[in-house]
Amino acid sequence: MRAFEYRAPTTLSEALKLLAEAKGEVRPLAGGTDLVPQVREGRKRPTMVLDVKRISELRRLEYDPGMGLRLGAAVSCSVIASHPQVRRYFPALAQACALVGSIQIQNRATVGGNICNASPSADTVPPLLCLDARAFIAGGRGQREVALESFFRGPGRTILARDELLVEVVVPPPPKFSAASYMRFIPRSEMDIAVAGVASLVVLDGGRQCQEARIALAAVAPQPSRAPEAEAALQGRPLDAKALEEAGELAAKMAKPITDIRGGAEYRRELVKVLTRRTLEQCLEALKRGPR
Ligand SMILES: Cc1cc2nc3c(=O)[nH]c(=O)nc-3n(C[C@H](O)[C@H](O)[C@H](O)COP(=O)(O)OP(=O)(O)OC[C@H]3O[C@@H](n4cnc5c(N)ncnc54)[C@H](O)[C@@H]3O)c2cc1C
Repeated sequence: MRAFEYRAPTTLSEALKLLAEAKGEVRPLAGGTDLVPQVREGRKRPTMVLDVKRISELRRLEYDPGMGLRLGAAVSCSVIASHPQVRRYFPALAQACALVGSIQIQNRATVGGNICNASPSADTVPPLLCLDARAFIAGGRGQREVALESFFRGPGRTILARDELLVEVVVPPPPKFSAASYMRFIPRSEMDIAVAGVASLVVLDGGRQCQEARIALAAVAPQPSRAPEAEAALQGRPLDAKALEEAGELAAKMAKPITDIRGGAEYRRELVKVLTRRTLEQCLEALKRGPR
């Protein structure tokens, strides 16, 4: 491993100053579960590693019924998965955080690291896309806010400039009469990354018709994304078996999977179809138990 400088600022302004003034390649470090193996294997060769875990803005986890959830980039998956208000109002996000790696990995891995690593199979991203999350970014030229869907540029690539940090993700309160679910397929029960993943969110109108559906896919395209055709096909319809099957087929059509060691493209499309139907069924089950 090549030697690098290690800095651990305690304020956001100090971190941004270090980023702005650094000469070589600076890599933010959160839990290190992606970055450390990448540096060890020489896939990333930073001259400075900037530990962001001590910055209070990045450690915030607050829920307000009017504003929604403020989720600091350096909050760990285990803290998110066990947070009472996340479990109550954003169960699909809690589900996804509880799937990342293993208990030990979840204790280190952060939501910001999962997003900024920009893996197509990142588990926390599909539920956040369904929840219409927004990313708050700070850098040398000030702060900016983008829809999380526009944060990704492809595998391992994001819109972040070299002097920018992801500060937090803000999730609006869930719509009334809604439920969401995230499921992924892996060949074993843990310590594996998704062959395909699907998050769905369903909003029912006063009756039993679908007012709005949101569907997001992981591991079946260069970046996680929503499936707008499948979403539109459900709008204004009763969510019967035929509607769910059709949505699954449309989501599978939208997917652009690759064939690799973990699964063929056709197999992944089939998984998208099945997981879309199952996550929608889970949403309906949750709504039957008692809509929010
Ligand atoms: C054994 C194992 C199992 C795993 N299983 C899963 C799994 O099931 N699902 C899954 O999705 N992932 C999995 N992962 C990958 C990894 O654990 C997650 O992606 C994790 O959320 C990364 O978070 P981190 O805090 O460790 O990120 P880090 O490794 O610290 O950082 C990841 C990347 O993001 C950048 N970064 C971090 N924070 C910021 C910030 N605030 N602003 C800008 N850039 C930033 C870093 O520079 C780096 O490029 C696994 C990893 C291992 C080692």
